[in-house]
Amino acid sequence: MTSITKRVKNAALNALFPRRCPLCGAFLSPAERICGKCADNLVYINRPICGRCGRPIFDCDCRPGEFCFERSVAPFSYTKAARSGIHRLKFDKKASAAAFFANMMASVVVREYSDYNIHIVTSVPLHRDSETKRGYNQSQLLASGVARALELRVDNGILIKPVKNSVQHSLSRQERVRNVRDVYRVARPDLIKNRTVLLCDDVMTTGSTLNECAKVLLEAGAARVLCVTACRVCESNQGGMKRAVI
Ligand SMILES: [Zn+2]
Ligand SMILES: [Zn+2]
Repeated sequence: MTSITKRVKNAALNALFPRRCPLCGAFLSPAERICGKCADNLVYINRPICGRCGRPIFDCDCRPGEFCFERSVAPFSYTKAARSGIHRLKFDKKASAAAFFANMMASVVVREYSDYNIHIVTSVPLHRDSETKRGYNQSQLLASGVARALELRVDNGILIKPVKNSVQHSLSRQERVRNVRDVYRVARPDLIKNRTVLLCDDVMTTGSTLNECAKVLLEAGAARVLCVTACRVCESNQGGMKRAVI
């Protein structure tokens, strides 16, 4: 197809199915990937970051031995624009939000985990009732997108959550740790034995969910667990800089 025909086709497609910002839903011009407002509000987490919890180094308050996963990283601080994107991902099943976050997560994995040989990608599970209610699990969409971008194997059935618990966001740090205790199981230990597992989720707040999932994966024989989330809650809520350094 010539470039002119291609441009005409793109313009026609854009007129029929206007592209929208994956984070807020505003209409985009053909050249934009996210809208100007979200681009101004997004806060990228750039180096130097904590080699354990993934926060910018000036913002880290994690303690040695606090987490049993080896590392956790995220492309974005959980601020306004990213929060709106996560909301679209979680409650509207917006494929564009999942693709946007998954591709950015994959970029951070390449930047931070290049020394590791990742064998398999998986996600934090939801209890069956919650998944039925929502119709899908947003973490699975992210894990599948990350695996596709990195050409890695994905299996979203490795972890299951047979026990129903309270939602984490209204709880204190201590309550969060207690609330996730013993609620996850490994359904496919054969897929993770002596393997390096990349565990995906949407947001890391205190890390208690990822930590509990990592704990059961390690107990079931995984060699190590690396985590990646779309967003990381940062104390200062500033994360790093306005531009990604990937
Ligand atoms: Zn936007
Ligand atoms: Zn830290």
